[in-house]
Amino acid sequence: MIDLTDNIARVQERIAEACRRAGRRPEDVKLVAVSKTVPPDRIRKAYDAGLRDFGENRVQEANAKRAALSDLTVTWHLVGHLQTNKAKLGEEQTKSGVREQDVLALAEQVGRLSTLELSGLMVLPPCFEDPEQARPFFRRLRELARTIESASLPGVSMRELSMGMSHDFEVAVEEGATMVR
Ligand SMILES: *Cc1c(COP(=O)(O)O)cnc(C)c1O
Repeated sequence: MIDLTDNIARVQERIAEACRRAGRRPEDVKLVAVSKTVPPDRIRKAYDAGLRDFGENRVQEANAKRAALSDLTVTWHLVGHLQTNKAKLGEEQTKSGVREQDVLALAEQVGRLSTLELSGLMVLPPCFEDPEQARPFFRRLRELARTIESASLPGVSMRELSMGMSHDFEVAVEEGATMVR
């Protein structure tokens, strides 16, 4: 059995190696430990091993864990989509994302909302056997972010690219991910 602490260290090493290959700085890539379904005591162990960013995909589950771990200084990330009973975002009833051709228009709309700031994009490519096959998706997200950036929309920056998961994070880091999940 692989120890949690060793496992985290190994992932961080692999992120650093991918950064080296791409001429990037490891401190520019955040490891967001997706902790959905993981009980608070195990999150606490991951915290003790050095992790500070955790990702949840359900608001109620996240709130319960935040309460149980309120003594820790943690940044919680919502990596799921909001259900409509949590937020009503205009007419766009996108269940789990937005089509590529609609991203710019959505960015413009979100940027106009005074209570929200759009700080980047996230992608979930199909799950491929070979992580190399995800590379074109990551590259495309980065290009899309550049397109949006150059539109200079108020309330919109593209400093974060959340891309890459357990099986393909090294490729994502090589393609510019600032957060891996
Ligand atoms: C669950 C989830 C992850 C992590 O998935 P793994 O299978 O543990 O790699 C990453 N991102 C999102 C959006 C998720 O919902």
